[in-house]
Amino acid sequence: MGAELGNYKSCVSARSTDKELLKHAQDGGIVTSLFAFALEEGIIDGAIVAANKEFAAKYPSKCMMDNSNFDMIEPWRPIPAIVNTKAELIAAAGTKYNISPNVSLLKEATRSFGLDKIGIVGTPCQMQAVRKAQLYPIGMRDVGASIALAVGIFCMENFPYQSILQLVEDHAAMKLESVKKMEIGKGKFWVYGKRGQVVQLPLKITHKYEQPGCHVCLDYVANLADVSTGSVGSPDGWSTVMVRSKIGDSVWGKAMAAGCFETQPIEKVKPGLELVTKLANEKITKNKKTLEGRATFGVGKALRNPYI
Ligand SMILES: Cc1cc2nc3c(=O)[nH]c(=O)nc-3n(C[C@H](O)[C@H](O)[C@H](O)COP(=O)(O)OP(=O)(O)OC[C@H]3O[C@@H](n4cnc5c(N)ncnc54)[C@H](O)[C@@H]3O)c2cc1C
Ligand code: SF4
Repeated sequence: MGAELGNYKSCVSARSTDKELLKHAQDGGIVTSLFAFALEEGIIDGAIVAANKEFAAKYPSKCMMDNSNFDMIEPWRPIPAIVNTKAELIAAAGTKYNISPNVSLLKEATRSFGLDKIGIVGTPCQMQAVRKAQLYPIGMRDVGASIALAVGIFCMENFPYQSILQLVEDHAAMKLESVKKMEIGKGKFWVYGKRGQVVQLPLKITHKYEQPGCHVCLDYVANLADVSTGSVGSPDGWSTVMVRSKIGDSVWGKAMAAGCFETQPIEKVKPGLELVTKLANEKITKNKKTLEGRATFGVGKALRNPYI
């Protein structure tokens, strides 16, 4: 292969220098710190993120929802929201392991929210959607030029909300509202309770709950983002960061100069890019097989292949 990590200008292991922010972040706080810096510098005037129930209760005007009864939102259901301050960014930090339709706010960000320079975070498929909207703006008039910074997060697979509910409440025997953090790493699905409990589930339990659409996905490290980041490859509390585009390079360079991040060369950390490459290869090889299977799925009839 060789193309599994996409094009990038530089790759480092990094974490935010903001200790308070790090308490709320999933890994090295790259997404939250980079957007906070970009907001401060006027590089973006708002960012689309995945918020939650508590966020919606505190900042209702930042979430585009028909139903204003925020009590009805379930714990750990992501709510796409537009943030304009560091406090709002921090309130939306952390990984929600279920689908957050962040791209659904893209057009509205330029309309009702009046943004001219949008930041957006998302999974690799969401970065693809952002780029497609820029190149083929069907129903997305004027949106493309307003996208100022697209930050991608690595993603092996995602889950529907119901699956997360089953995994946490049934398999891990914890109530979703009592969960502080979830994490997939070191071959396990980890659930951390607010009272200090830790439950780990082997990934073989989680497989059947995966979103089926993820099984045709051929991108692990958000190849189309300006900057991509994930936990894999770096030590706990740190992130692997791939700076990809000219825009990404410029923002990352300015944020580094402003002291937003501490970094280590990726070659110096364990497990480093070797593991990222291995996992990217595994994902792509497995999902290519699923795609091939779709070509001969029916008798004399194929299922659609979105790549051709
Ligand atoms: C479904 C999923 C699968 C992942 N799989 C992997 C993996 O296999 N390997 C790996 O290294 N990393 C994976 N990640 C990424 C990792 O969990 C962290 O999100 C990433 O390292 C960023 O950490 P941070 O500390 O920089 O982010 P933070 O500063 O904590 O910010 C995280 C940002 O992501 C946004 N966000 C949270 N959940 C979602 C969501 N569901 N969809 C879109 N945006 C969201 C938040 O709003 C926030 O802005 C996955 C993330 C998701 C959502
Ligand atoms: S595995 Fe692919 S399709 Fe599924 S959420 Fe992640 S990036 Fe999107």
